[in-house]
Amino acid sequence: MIEFPPSRATALDRLKSFAPKAGSSYARLRNFDLTNHPHVSALSSYLTHRVISEEEVLIEVLRHHTAKDAEKFIQEVCWRTYWKGVLERRPALWDRYKADLNASWNQIQTQSGLRSEWEDACLGRTGIDAFDHWANELVETGYLHNHARMWFASIWIFTLRLPWTLGADFFMRHLLDADAASNTLSWRWVAGLQTTGKTYLARPDNIAKYTQDRFRPRGLAEFAAPLDNPNLPPLGPAPIDSGEGFDGFALHISDLSTDTLAQPNCPIAVLVPSSTEGNLRPSGLQQDFKTALANDACRRIAKLGETPTLVNSADQLNDWVASHSIRRLGFHHLTIGPSHDHISPWLNAIETAGVSLQPQVRDYDSIGWSAATAGFFKFKSIIPRLLDGLRQPSLI
Ligand SMILES: Cc1cc2nc3c(=O)[nH]c(=O)nc-3n(C[C@H](O)[C@H](O)[C@H](O)COP(=O)(O)OP(=O)(O)OC[C@H]3O[C@@H](n4cnc5c(N)ncnc54)[C@H](O)[C@@H]3O)c2cc1C
Repeated sequence: MIEFPPSRATALDRLKSFAPKAGSSYARLRNFDLTNHPHVSALSSYLTHRVISEEEVLIEVLRHHTAKDAEKFIQEVCWRTYWKGVLERRPALWDRYKADLNASWNQIQTQSGLRSEWEDACLGRTGIDAFDHWANELVETGYLHNHARMWFASIWIFTLRLPWTLGADFFMRHLLDADAASNTLSWRWVAGLQTTGKTYLARPDNIAKYTQDRFRPRGLAEFAAPLDNPNLPPLGPAPIDSGEGFDGFALHISDLSTDTLAQPNCPIAVLVPSSTEGNLRPSGLQQDFKTALANDACRRIAKLGETPTLVNSADQLNDWVASHSIRRLGFHHLTIGPSHDHISPWLNAIETAGVSLQPQVRDYDSIGWSAATAGFFKFKSIIPRLLDGLRQPSLI
């Protein structure tokens, strides 16, 4: 069973052993969903929390391959950057998702048929063997192969005819790599909401081929008509770096990288909101993973000679800022998603109390997000620029 030990050391080991396979063998074999996932990197759970960065991954891969040989793998990493940019530029898509999820949650409170179909899907009791296997695999391991995610989402929407937001939410609560941008926009893409008129239909032959005949489900939908599609919200600006210094720094669970911390005598906090409120809670596996990664970040920071403080609430952040007399707080830009929803009000409160906020945006993100204005095809043209600007962060 695939496992994700929660440490940067594991992420680095995994990257080292995977990088030699990121060339032509990845291009040929990446679509196979096999036991233990031998042909993909399994790095997403670390990338999502920036325990390891996209730049580090790309640099290591380019030590073994030319950009041409590793084109497929590089493009996949860039899909991540692209989706992030799309959601940063159109944050209303996240608000719409949350509002629609809320409406679907209300529906399952009042419609017992829908509620039991939703429960069967989440508990792997639909009778579609492949789907039930993936539901269980997700809950047990916190991971699914990309192809399985596509098939699962397609069957959820077009065969089971369940609201897509409940499926996206099931993923968000269980995936260790749960990422608001990749998840929401991939579900939207499968449903035909993201690329107008284009849906993804899971086909039995394709599933049989890429699971090496482990599964050939029967009774799947044969057509996938796009869901109703309100226009995309308007495109906003890409987030920018404050360009200013700071006298205290807050890491958060969406970006635990320590490369910006090489500043002596700078108090450091690690912000970890507890997400136990609400009806739909993250899985214990996911919460434990996040907590362990935050502790791992604290141990890494301690090696820099600083003693970080774990902060779990707005009050604790306020107290920490006051006790260190912090006037300018640096932090990695909070991308749209649950961490942003939890932590932004904490930051707004200290800003109101007179602390100046100094968000930091990496050049890599800035270049990528600025280009996320249309489809991935257009975005691809800036990949050489992204690769030219790669900078090895001095992470610990
Ligand atoms: C419905 C659906 C939901 C998804 N939800 C998430 C999510 O919550 N979080 C998440 O990180 N990814 C998500 N993905 C994208 C993708 O499935 C995972 O990133 C990938 O499977 C992670 O496995 P890996 O690290 O072994 O990938 P590899 O194949 O080794 O790829 C290397 C890296 O490239 C990036 N990547 C690969 N494929 C994609 C993709 N299709 N879209 C965006 N980035 C990609 C990831 O960062 C990944 O770690 C989703 C895809 C679908 C279809």
